[in-house]
Amino acid sequence: MHELEPVFNPRSIAVIGASRREGTIGQQVTKNLIDGKFPGPIYPINPGATEILGLKAYPSIGDVPEPVDAAVYCVPADKVLEVARQCAKAGVKGHIVITSGFAEVGNKREEDELVQIAKGSGGRVIGPNIVGTMSNPAKANASFAPVLPYVGQTALISQSGALIIALDTVTYARKFGVSSMISLGNMADVDFADCIEYYAQDMNTKCIALYIEGVKNGYKFMQAGRWAGKPIVALKAGVSAHGAAAAASHTGSLAGSVKVYQAACNQAHMIWATDLEDMLNKSQALAMQPVLKGDKVVIITNGGGIGVLGSDAAERHGIPLQAAPADVQAQFRKFMPDFGSPKNPVDITGGSGVAGYEGAIETALRCPWVDGIGVFYCETAVTKATDIANALITKLKETGITDKPVVACFVGGAGSVEAGKVLLEASIPYYDCPNKAMSALAALRQASRFQEVGCKVDFEPYTDVDKRKARSIIAAARAAGRKALTEPEAKELFACYGLPVTKSSLAKTEEEAVHFAQEIGFPVVLKIVSPDILHKSDAGGVRVNLKDAEAVCAGFRAIMENVRRYKADADLHGILVCEMAPLGSEVIIGSVNDATFGPTVMFGLGGVFVEVLKDVTFRVAPISIECALAMQQEIKGYPMLQGVRGEKRRDQEVLAGVLSRLSQLVSDLEDDIAETDANPILLYEEGKGCRVVDARVILKPR
Ligand code: ADP
Ligand code: MG
Repeated sequence: MHELEPVFNPRSIAVIGASRREGTIGQQVTKNLIDGKFPGPIYPINPGATEILGLKAYPSIGDVPEPVDAAVYCVPADKVLEVARQCAKAGVKGHIVITSGFAEVGNKREEDELVQIAKGSGGRVIGPNIVGTMSNPAKANASFAPVLPYVGQTALISQSGALIIALDTVTYARKFGVSSMISLGNMADVDFADCIEYYAQDMNTKCIALYIEGVKNGYKFMQAGRWAGKPIVALKAGVSAHGAAAAASHTGSLAGSVKVYQAACNQAHMIWATDLEDMLNKSQALAMQPVLKGDKVVIITNGGGIGVLGSDAAERHGIPLQAAPADVQAQFRKFMPDFGSPKNPVDITGGSGVAGYEGAIETALRCPWVDGIGVFYCETAVTKATDIANALITKLKETGITDKPVVACFVGGAGSVEAGKVLLEASIPYYDCPNKAMSALAALRQASRFQEVGCKVDFEPYTDVDKRKARSIIAAARAAGRKALTEPEAKELFACYGLPVTKSSLAKTEEEAVHFAQEIGFPVVLKIVSPDILHKSDAGGVRVNLKDAEAVCAGFRAIMENVRRYKADADLHGILVCEMAPLGSEVIIGSVNDATFGPTVMFGLGGVFVEVLKDVTFRVAPISIECALAMQQEIKGYPMLQGVRGEKRRDQEVLAGVLSRLSQLVSDLEDDIAETDANPILLYEEGKGCRVVDARVILKPR
């Protein structure tokens, strides 16, 4: 039996703090269990009552003669620990703690103690600070929300209790089917990952929908998502640029954004929802329909307008429509007048009635070319919306085809809404506009892609790395009391993991600089090295393209003058003499140590792309080469990497390797590295690789 069974599927429930007084949570929970027709015993616990709502009441949990699976806490916060001890002693395993007044108001210690007590006797805590839990299969409404939700196959897990209460009745209005509805509250013990794990193995649940405010353990969350093997929809609220101000590196200032959460959820095989509506729309389809196994989607419509809107939306959501092959078009042709269009969208025209829809639907269902279907309908005077809905239902039954997803988009008034109900009752997701329908279909496609990948982890660690040397570079900087590595140190660190950094040597004097320049070969670049100067150009601390000894000497003196003027008391380590890398496309890669997900790498194009357009993308580290290639394709500036205006394609493969190696470096040394930046990397055409010309590493405070 799953450890969380007593929490989510209890056979017997005690309500601690059950009450005879109307309007109290203690009474509402008791009443809800009775009204929901909970089949097992309900034990109201109240020292001052012998009977509550017709049920025998007990003074304490210890007085209940039979074992109890779950206890719902409806007592004031100062009674919770005492109740927890009694419950633990009585063998209760599911602690459903509705009571507020814990970590959310600063009482973290009491909350930790509550968990300790419960876990000490093999139990689990959900909450505190929750509305409760609702399970349709168990007929258990262990909450103070109005009713058990509309029956269906989505498990809805929400950190916000108010949202649970609000959505409870929405489920009826929208016929949004729910298996369980869980309020997570403070997540002192049971968190999103636990719920995902439980509902992944729950036979009554086909889709898991999450309303997230914050994830406590990013790693556990991502693991759970990958292992679930079931569609998960994630809606994240409250994404802001928090923490960005404190970040010292360029990458840092771009992190903390919605992009990190989005990347993490995607890597965890969760389908991202942009808002509440989107979450409900996508979950509806995922719970009702099979996944979309290929890219060939057909829209059948009686209206050109909604067909075109559907086509636009399909493209927007990553499943662009393709023209049907000639033989498929010929089949559709049979069910439309001459002025119809059999291409895709398949426009059977406004005059079409039930027969036209039936023919086109059956054709699409039986046609092997078609992977998924959108049945679109504009409410017209010549047709009745429910007739079209029934035609679709009938055809699905007749053909017996169950592995091809179908979504419906009915645009119209009362008639269409009525048809929508008919469709939803037959497990066909119904939407009132093309965008929602295509977004839902795209979610079914994404779910299929995640299934194909499975829980396989594709990152293979590099073995040709020198972790020991990397650690010693950091240890030396720490020993010198520094919070960041200097550029030569950072480059040396990068080189330990095989990143192609420019050759360089640190010179203390002009003579040394000339000597190193001759060794490296002209032209060279000179750069100031000082822990007090992070942005070298700003301080006049960079001189490029120095072609001879004379230029090096002059450059050396100019830099020294500039930086003294910039910051008189700066601690100067010397001047770095670097190999001058040939011109190339400037790109930037870097990393942050995300508060939730840990080491996270970033990629973007340099210059205005990153600074103004913030055209960057993130992944939780470590990442494979394939993943690093996908990152490059994801940015808006990707065509630049493909080569514009006659330029050759850039060396995306080598860059991907560099990104993947950096992801391993920051994962291996995650206890030490807060942020890294390779800004810029000069990227050359295919086969010519890239050079890291600037490197920055910020250490984690100890
Ligand atoms: P900072 O970012 O601290 O101002 P950088 O090391 O990035 O300093 O140098 C500033 C610019 O100089 C870079 O963006 C790059 O265009 C150029 N540059 C620096 N080092 C090299 C080099 N070794 N080869 C070619 N160009 C370089
Ligand atoms: Mg730089």
